Order: sequence, then structure tokens, then C-alpha cells
Amino acid sequence: MFKLWHHPIYTDGLSPEAHFPRERYRLAADVLQQNSEIVFETPSRIEPDDLLLAHDRDFRDAFLSGDLPEEKVRRIGLKPWSEEIVERTLILTNGTVSAARHVLEVGGSAKAGNLGGGTHHAYYDFGSGYCIFNDLAIAARVAQRDFGVETVLILDLDVHQGDGTAAIFANDPTVRTVSFHCRENFPFRKMKSDLDVEFSKGTGDAEYLSTLAAFLEREAALFRPDLILYQAGVDTLKTDRLGHLELTRDGLQTRNQLVFDFVESAQVPCVITMGGGYGVPIETSVDAFGDLFSQAAGG
Ligand SMILES: [Zn+2]
Repeated sequence: MFKLWHHPIYTDGLSPEAHFPRERYRLAADVLQQNSEIVFETPSRIEPDDLLLAHDRDFRDAFLSGDLPEEKVRRIGLKPWSEEIVERTLILTNGTVSAARHVLEVGGSAKAGNLGGGTHHAYYDFGSGYCIFNDLAIAARVAQRDFGVETVLILDLDVHQGDGTAAIFANDPTVRTVSFHCRENFPFRKMKSDLDVEFSKGTGDAEYLSTLAAFLEREAALFRPDLILYQAGVDTLKTDRLGHLELTRDGLQTRNQLVFDFVESAQVPCVITMGGGYGVPIETSVDAFGDLFSQAAGG
């Protein structure tokens, strides 16, 4: 059975007026609840001390007490700020951490997911681009602290660069950051991941998928992680209003399968998170997230 962490607060904790498609979580959950291979799990709040594994204490404290300065709130972009956003953030971050704990307990090529998270634009001491704390970075650190994990691969296939993740692990050879993204998309000042693969605006399935297949073949021989965190943003879709790549729904299914085949042959536990999905209509993103987690669940 494939475990998928989700909580209604993923949607309800954001203001309906926020410039963010908050309904995607609820809609994707509605679709995936029909899948008998998937067991839904409800995350609790993360321990506030665990946030310090990847974040600055002053930043954490200011966020938790509602004292973030206006310019930091603006950079996160989830306006208007809701009262529930602190609770939502603690729960959503723990969805990824809980999934990581689960796959490490099971071992082998176990997979689990968070129907949210992938908050890769969050830096050590500030949030950015709809991201507050970096769930990927925290999950990697929890895995190292509590499970004896030595090396982690963060494979970020969102259309936007995983800039916060890259910056947090810039000088850390134990966490390999790999980002496939569109050059013309946010963030406009890119950070340096261990490997950045940049595509031009308009790149479609053929070039993207052959590049990914070649990378995974090389990677299998090069780096042997104890844990893989797959940020599976679907804003690479042609219908996405923020992303400038032009992948199809079929192309994204092939993308996911390439990653899951890699996980299977490497026999490494893997956590799958969401990422961007700003499709017009929103159902195109929801369908792609439905495909992602159904594929992870094995069909
Ligand atoms: Zn994105």
C-alpha cells in the first residue's frame, strides 16, 4: 500500500483570496481517494525544533509568533495572510517528514508521498515564492539525524529552480541537489545546485525526456543515495500559467515512470512531494498530480 500524507488544512489554511490555486490539494485528494492502492495519512504538527535543522532561529520565531516583517511576508507571496497559515505550515512540512520516516522504516525501494510540500524556494532565513520552510531540506536532515542516512538525492523536476534547497546545501556534499527547470522562469537570479539542467522556453516532451533518461543513467553510476526526495512539480505542463515548458500529460507520466524505474533499480527509499501546478484550467494540474501519485502507488 502506498501511504499519502494529506490534511484539509493544506487548502483551508490559505485565504480563498490568496493568489494561489489552493483548491488543487482538495481536488487531487478527491481523485486519489478513489484509488484502493492508496492509504491516506494525516500529518501532525512538526516539532518546532526540527525546523532549526534547516532554518534560522530568528526567522522561525518571527514566523511562529506572527511577527515576520512586511517585506518577508511579501516575498513569500501568500497574501492575504490567513490566521491558520502557521498551523498549516507546521502540518504541511511534517507531511513530507512523516513520509520520509515511513519509507526509511520500510527500506528497499519503498515510496510514500505528501499531497503538498515541495517548498523548494524557502531559504535558510527567509521564505520566497509561496514557500515558507523548506520541507525537503528538513526531511533530509531528519533522515540524517534519526535514521543514520548519509547521503540524500533531492531530485527537483518542478519548472522553477529549487533555489532555496540549492542554497541551503551549497557546501554540503552529503545532500546532492539536482534541479531541472526552465531558464526563463522564476527565480530570475538562480542559485547553484550540484547539478542544474536548464531548458529554454517552449521545450517539449522529446528533449526533456531524453535529457532526463540520460541523466538518470549517469546518476545511477555516479551517486548512491540512501534516500531520494522527488519534488514532482507539474508546472512543466503546457497548460500551466506560470511555467514556460510545454510538456504534455503523457510526457509527465513518462517523466514519473523514468524516476520510479530509477528508484526501483537503485533500491533506494523515495518520498514524492507536490510542487507547482498552476494549470488553466486547474483540472489539468489536478489530473497530473492524480497521475503522479497513482503511478507511485503502482498503477
Ligand atoms: Zn514551480
